[in-house]
Amino acid sequence: MHAPMFSLEVFPPKRNAPVGTIYDTLDGLQGVDPDFISVTYGHGSQSDRTATARIAHTITAEYRIPAVAHLTAQYLDEAQADATLDMFEQANVSAVLALRGDRNPDREPLGVFEHASDLAAYIRRTRPGMTVFGACYPEGHPQAHDLDEDIRNLKIKVDAGATHLISQLFYDNQDFLRFLDKARAAGINVPIEAGIMPVTNAGQVRRMVRTCSSRVPQRLETMLDKWGSDPTTLQDAGIIYASEQIADLVARDVEGIHLYTMNRPSVTRGIWRNVQPLFAKAASTAPVSAVSAAV
Ligand code: FAD
Repeated sequence: MHAPMFSLEVFPPKRNAPVGTIYDTLDGLQGVDPDFISVTYGHGSQSDRTATARIAHTITAEYRIPAVAHLTAQYLDEAQADATLDMFEQANVSAVLALRGDRNPDREPLGVFEHASDLAAYIRRTRPGMTVFGACYPEGHPQAHDLDEDIRNLKIKVDAGATHLISQLFYDNQDFLRFLDKARAAGINVPIEAGIMPVTNAGQVRRMVRTCSSRVPQRLETMLDKWGSDPTTLQDAGIIYASEQIADLVARDVEGIHLYTMNRPSVTRGIWRNVQPLFAKAASTAPVSAVSAAV
């Protein structure tokens, strides 16, 4: 039995934050042993793509960890997508998380990459050396009528070229396990990593679950009620909650865990201290998937 994958997500510093804060994040993650780190992408301006490419390059060149660059495409034409993919290639990034992105109500999408599957197919056709990742939604994407419809669309994304999926956050493992069963039954056979977002602040959890249409299980609701106004204790409880989620998922043989670091390395380190033994790789074990080999 292979050890499951363990990966992390970081985001470029906000516009008004010093660029160097990403080094604080990456330095703070030393000691954690991810298979790769993914870097999020903003809404598509020139500075967004430069920031993602630069950070991904720093991760591979300076920290010697494979990087996956996110790319949202609904506001791009082919020339802009090519310019961004060129930039990623020059940064030695060989894996892209192909995304549609969220709709900006003030801006019409260009219609070139209407769905993430269009970008996945485009990368597959034009960049045979790049590995294509895709996003998936254990509780269904908010715009899909139901989970079954969303999984049918996910199959299109996989058939278009996504060879590795990373899930949206969820707080009840049963939701992820149900989704996994349905995805496998629909013929989706690529690795699917479970996305875990640690609870660090009650307001942030409420915002995230609203945006993602995720469920807050009663156990988490009770924690938010009890420690919502005590951030230090809530953060400690959040580390325990995420660690328990991960231990349960690994016990059920999920293929990987993708931890949303929220650029808070102390939280990631706290969780890693608890779960590290579950990811121990035997010296003789081959790479878990094409990811570590291909990225
Ligand atoms: P799609 O896969 O295109 O799906 C969007 C909707 O369209 C779904 O309802 C789906 O069922 C439907 N659909 C998909 N394909 C078809 C089809 N062929 N025909 C008909 N309907 C279809 N956002 C950012 O801005 N930057 C990031 O870096 C970022 N990273 C993310 C990382 C992960 C792991 C996840 C889960 C999400 C991330 N997001 C990011 C958020 C993401 O952009 C939004 O969730 C967005 O609303 C959907 O993007 P998608 O790529 O999943 O879209």
